[in-house]
Amino acid sequence: MKGKVYLVGAGPGDYKLMTLRGLDALKKADIIIYDRLANETLLKEAKETCEFIYVGKKSSDHTMKQEDINELIAKKAEEGKTVVRLKGGDPYVFGRGGEEGEVLYERGIDFEVIPGITSAIGGLCYAGIPITHRDYASSFHVITGHLKEDGEELNWNALASLKGTLVFLMGMSNLENIVNNLMDNGKPIDTPVAIINWASRSNQRVVIGNLENIYKVVQREGIKPPSLIVIGDVVRLRDKLNYFEKKPLFGKNIVVTRARAQSSRLVEEINDLGGSTIEFPTIKINEIPDNNDLHRAIENIEKYNYIIFTSKNGVEIFFDNLFKMGFDSRKLGKAKVVAIGPATNKALVKWGIKSDIIPETYVGESIYDELKIIVKTNDNILIPRSKEARSYLVDSLSPLCNVNEVQTYETLLGNGDRDEILRYLDNDEIDYITFTSSSTVRNFIEILGMENIKKLAKTKMISIGPITSKTIQDLGLEIYKEAESYTIDGMLECLVNE
Ligand code: SAH
Repeated sequence: MKGKVYLVGAGPGDYKLMTLRGLDALKKADIIIYDRLANETLLKEAKETCEFIYVGKKSSDHTMKQEDINELIAKKAEEGKTVVRLKGGDPYVFGRGGEEGEVLYERGIDFEVIPGITSAIGGLCYAGIPITHRDYASSFHVITGHLKEDGEELNWNALASLKGTLVFLMGMSNLENIVNNLMDNGKPIDTPVAIINWASRSNQRVVIGNLENIYKVVQREGIKPPSLIVIGDVVRLRDKLNYFEKKPLFGKNIVVTRARAQSSRLVEEINDLGGSTIEFPTIKINEIPDNNDLHRAIENIEKYNYIIFTSKNGVEIFFDNLFKMGFDSRKLGKAKVVAIGPATNKALVKWGIKSDIIPETYVGESIYDELKIIVKTNDNILIPRSKEARSYLVDSLSPLCNVNEVQTYETLLGNGDRDEILRYLDNDEIDYITFTSSSTVRNFIEILGMENIKKLAKTKMISIGPITSKTIQDLGLEIYKEAESYTIDGMLECLVNE
């Protein structure tokens, strides 16, 4: 049984510009063969057993030869695998998708081609340039800039006389040639030109000039490939249509240290605000298995007057066990439910429970302040929570009533990539590091290594609240900002209000 090949366009860079059909293919793939321009974030959509093969250019050595790529795709499909060949932009726009398809046809391998948004159109859009416009351009031309020495293969005379927008791909090493050829053939020297580097990514850079000066501008600004060269009057519209670079976190690299399973909302929001996230999971949540203490507490839940939840994880694990034991949320009966903050409350609502108490500020101290005035000596309180939780809440409530703390999970060291983060730090590429709990701070430093702590001096630390801040300060580091509301939203506010 032969497998199947999907030639998939990944879009210009922003990974959310991939099509739904492309996403379906990624999720099915046994192997993904991808290159430099396809956003690697997309690989996260693959199933756990998926194999990844990078065939793009590495810093020094060259791209894998096209024949070898064709062979690789065909061979894997002949082994019966579902293969995704993931390419930047659209597979058929200077993407050699046609050649790959021909090989598959010849070898009798089943394939599908899934178009993508080409950088030649979508990339311009993210730079505020519409490729056509009633007043400025009624056609467009997408041209390879990958020329032989003299550029003889293109009809410069014809190109220079076109009134539509000209977009050159792969043209950066020939930029001087391109503009000279156009000017020599009569294209006005003041025709606007834009160069768009890493279009639609958070590190997008755009420079503007005209045919006469753009080469100098590019040299001065050090703009490199991959870049689009856009020539024509539509470039003028950038002043009005540049929505992307105006996003509040545009151009910022932000490290997210939460456990991967918990980080999605923070990551999503940062991306939507135009920022780029570097995921560095410092913690991993591990439920304590066969937890007799927890089971006993659930069994006897009727005797508790209050149940205090101090995290979303605590809620999930508690109710997961409760349901597995054959009960449902009615088991909680009359017990008053306390949630430390809105995220914990939201987790409870999913299990059909509305919190009776959410303290004013989202820390243990505030829970104590609420409870100390209402609890009675004979009241029983259950606190199912992390093994690493601060002793404060239990210590402060114990003199007032009966407190049963049940440890339900532990926070282990995450698998954040130390070398990757060090590389970013050494290149001065990190703008902010976000810490959402004390354990993310401690583990971050543990993975990074104390010997590297100096490298953090210039990086701005954003803390979710005072407890996390204290842990940061105890390590001799400075907080840049602390969330006012002690929530993820509060952290996003810190970032946006910059
Ligand atoms: N199939 C791709 C193009 C592949 S050719 C597409 O449809 O977009 C590779 C060239 O595309 C690069 O040299 C560069 O000129 C351009 N390119 C692709 N993605 C780009 C991006 N995000 N930013 C700038 N240029 C890009």
